[in-house]
Amino acid sequence: MNTISELIAKARKIVIKFGSNTLAGSNGRINDTLLAEFAEQAFSLIKQGKQIVIVSSGAQVAGLSAMGKWERKRDIHYRQALCAVGQVKLMDAWERAFTPLGIHIAQILLTRDDFADNTRTLNMRNTLFTLVDEGIVPIINENDTVSVEEIKIGDNDTLAAQSAILWSADLLILFSDIDGLYDKNPKENNDAKLVSEVRDISAAKNSVKTSGNDGGAGEFGTGGIVTKLDAAQRIMGYGIPMILAHGTRTRALDALVSGTGQGTAFII
Ligand code: ADP
Repeated sequence: MNTISELIAKARKIVIKFGSNTLAGSNGRINDTLLAEFAEQAFSLIKQGKQIVIVSSGAQVAGLSAMGKWERKRDIHYRQALCAVGQVKLMDAWERAFTPLGIHIAQILLTRDDFADNTRTLNMRNTLFTLVDEGIVPIINENDTVSVEEIKIGDNDTLAAQSAILWSADLLILFSDIDGLYDKNPKENNDAKLVSEVRDISAAKNSVKTSGNDGGAGEFGTGGIVTKLDAAQRIMGYGIPMILAHGTRTRALDALVSGTGQGTAFII
């Protein structure tokens, strides 16, 4: 056992977020094998009595590979149109992953306004509880079709944190294209060191170098490491721990569960 495997062992309600670069292979297509393998690993946790909610990015990248055009369109309506096309493909991919296991999935699309309105918040919370109690795996994403820049949550790290708080989760796992938090961006610094535990999130935010204004967000990533640290700070304020780990390592979730996988544990 290590800190990460202990956090998972103790948690019953777990929110797991996937970034676009994790879900899509280098060819820009949703990685069906990854999704199928993840579903199996999630299923084994569900069989142990744990409950899983997924926050999934990837609508835009799925839309691009489906349309095979509009790569260079920066116009907001084209980007929203891509997300509208891609959201269907994304959910189709998730459904193909979970159906063989006899698990239904449910789509929940949210906007920033939804979290600011008490009635909507209560509805979302009740729906999440109902779905999960019925053994369904909810898959949350931002509703990009209605979220113009001014009212956007903007990145799914924040959405995942808000969802974890809303559902009163015990743990948030962010699966990214990086093994965890480093003292500086490992993609630019060979000598970057993995930080395996963060207990003082403010100190970590001050000391870690994030490189570039966007904190290293990839082509389809909208967050970078900065939004992951913000997400950690947000949920740690509610007493919820977080794990940041690499989502495309072989059987990444199993490895975290067994204590063989690496990552960063954000603990209170
Ligand atoms: P996702 O699509 O999973 O949300 P992002 O691409 O938005 O992921 O953010 C992760 C990226 O943040 C990493 O690939 C890495 O290049 C970058 N990054 C910048 N600074 C750091 C750091 N100190 N530690 C870890 N990653 C960092």
